[in-house]
Amino acid sequence: MQFNQDDEGARLMKALVWHGEGDIRLDNVADPSIQDPNDAIVRITRSAICGTDLHFIRGTMAGMHEGTILGHEAVGVVEETAQCDVANPNGPAAGTCFFGGPAPTGPVDGLQAEYARIPWASNTLIPIPGNVSDDDAILLSDIFPTAWFGAQLAGIRRGDTVAVYGAGIVGQLAIASAYRQGAGRVWAVDGVQTRLVKALEQNAEVIDFNQEDPVEAIMDATMGVGVDAVIEAVGVDAQRPARGPAAEKYAARTEQFDAEVAQTAPETNVQGENWVPGNAPSLSAQWAVESVAKYGRIGMIGVFSPDLTSFPIGQATNKNLTLRAGNCDHRSVTAPLLDLVAAGLFDPAPFVTQHEPIDNAVEAYLSFDRRDEGWLKTVLTTG
Ligand SMILES: [Zn+2]
Repeated sequence: MQFNQDDEGARLMKALVWHGEGDIRLDNVADPSIQDPNDAIVRITRSAICGTDLHFIRGTMAGMHEGTILGHEAVGVVEETAQCDVANPNGPAAGTCFFGGPAPTGPVDGLQAEYARIPWASNTLIPIPGNVSDDDAILLSDIFPTAWFGAQLAGIRRGDTVAVYGAGIVGQLAIASAYRQGAGRVWAVDGVQTRLVKALEQNAEVIDFNQEDPVEAIMDATMGVGVDAVIEAVGVDAQRPARGPAAEKYAARTEQFDAEVAQTAPETNVQGENWVPGNAPSLSAQWAVESVAKYGRIGMIGVFSPDLTSFPIGQATNKNLTLRAGNCDHRSVTAPLLDLVAAGLFDPAPFVTQHEPIDNAVEAYLSFDRRDEGWLKTVLTTG
């Protein structure tokens, strides 16, 4: 690993840094050092760009500090450790803490860099067996466990009919997880063609929300009953259908959706087609409630801003729904999935569609943010 140096001779590394809404840069920053007795320094060999990162740049998850290094998915090699047995980063009552996120989540600098400081390393690093490749391991760092957790939240049972909202990378692995947890039929709902093709390759039935009203399509396919379970994998950046019957149906909700956008994204910096907040923050949650059967189950793993307060609670209670939501509890979910991959029973690597050197990180973000066809999952390589 070659280091640059600053004027005082301190080592510098490349890192993808958040400077403001719509403003990310690949900077040379001081390489991290041990700060607490519970830290480790990790040399990053692979990091990945996640849809979660986009919310911070579009402004739909507020509270970012300028200078925060982005990224919470990575594989690497421990270079240096300290020692401590304190496990919880923000105290026993804290919410989700993650790398490269807004201030209330830590903040802790992220992993889209050459090196990273890992606080509470004994409790946050997971050892990777020698026969698991970095490309398989990178999808175990967040995406696959999150998708599996979503299927668990939805309480998938043998033979269930399941709708997955969002066929990005989390939705794709939610389809795979639902089948492996026993689902009988799975529908995938999205508006991006290459995502729908990938879902079809996994034997999901596909619904393009720009062609069909997804709620009506699911009701038609289930004889008016709805699906047993829904996995919601879209979150706060949900988009209104651009055309088709669903576009007409939701035209009357423009004011409500606009108010939600104002609530969740107080600061934005739209540049042409980039960094545009989703224009229907509560829509996928709405679809989930409308298309699930009475007594159905919904698992919500989409990222929602704490500032969003819209949810169709009346419909949910009147349908006797079970609703579970959250950010993945990686410590409890990842270990058995790692066994699955190490045993050769599931191969996540083919879901990675782009490998880019970290020098191309900003361009990769721009393509992913625009939902360019074929940009399902980008892995950044260093060195
Ligand atoms: Zn992620």
